[in-house]
Amino acid sequence: MPTSRTTDDFAQRVLAWYDEHGRKSLPWQHKINAYRVWVSEIMLQQTQVDTVIPYFTRFMARFPNVKQLAEADIDEVLHLWTGLGYYARARNLHACAQRVAFEHGGRFPRTRDALNALPGIGRSTAAAICSIAFEQPESILDGNVKRVLARYHAIDGWPGTKTVEQALWTVAEAHQPQSRCRDYTQAMMDLGATLCTRSKPACPLCPLQSDCRAQSEGQPTLYPGKKPRKDKPTKHCQMLLIYSPNGEIALHQRPPSGIWGGLWSLPELALDDDPEHYADQHYGPVSHQEALPEIKHVFSHYTLMIQPIAVHLSTLHPKIMEKPGALWYNPHFPHELGLAAPVKKLIHG
Ligand code: SF4
Repeated sequence: MPTSRTTDDFAQRVLAWYDEHGRKSLPWQHKINAYRVWVSEIMLQQTQVDTVIPYFTRFMARFPNVKQLAEADIDEVLHLWTGLGYYARARNLHACAQRVAFEHGGRFPRTRDALNALPGIGRSTAAAICSIAFEQPESILDGNVKRVLARYHAIDGWPGTKTVEQALWTVAEAHQPQSRCRDYTQAMMDLGATLCTRSKPACPLCPLQSDCRAQSEGQPTLYPGKKPRKDKPTKHCQMLLIYSPNGEIALHQRPPSGIWGGLWSLPELALDDDPEHYADQHYGPVSHQEALPEIKHVFSHYTLMIQPIAVHLSTLHPKIMEKPGALWYNPHFPHELGLAAPVKKLIHG
């Protein structure tokens, strides 16, 4: 993405602003190690810093290292999580601690890919651990950073779509400095959280103001684009390709009447629903998930825009899928059954 200045200049301005205005006394900014960074990053997903601080402090007092967390009873972990919400995060945290403690000798892997393979650690969280704990030049893309970059580059569209997300990753990596990686990651998060806020960006105070495209267009809050709204002629949904740990896909049979009556289909959610929460409730804890390219299915009376999400489970809840009308589908040895058209397209291409 074009900028009138160099990549280094972007990072230098952000870092200079951070030196003067950034947050430097958050509890996870002291005694920095991968364990503390990881716990803070998981807690901060969908949760404000002020809310997280007391939880983090209590959590560290009880589980000062990954081994103690791994050996804890999950009920105690969930108890300490109570009130933070999104409990799949806590279950994944526990599962991940066990993997690190028992499969990695108690040391977190030091590469983004290896971290990304652990339960509950997505690409951005893995990058945050690499940059903050290990000072590696890895770019993050949390909600705050997405907002800053979407505005700075005037990137249109909802970041929940694959295309927009990829455009944001590209610019995030283009701006990534090779040194002061920890500070830069923190600086970008702080910039989004304290200056480039959702509804009232403080552009006059921003180090990026001089060449921020959204600011020069006059309406920075138009970026990033909102989730598409539902309307009559076009409907939207998410379809979940929920993968068991051995690669089978969860299908369920639709009611005999209505759209795709009696056919086998994927779980469908509204765009606002959280696929991870759904999968965790119905199937098991989620290891990772990714948005796939959107597909369009045209009915005679409306168009359905389907956002497929591949959700990979780390384990299964006991006794799931023992009910009629539900099965695990092996795409390599497919059952002979009727699949709804877009489902067939999603599974078999
Ligand atoms: S100039 Fe304004 S819109 Fe642009 S990045 Fe800074 S705060 Fe955000």
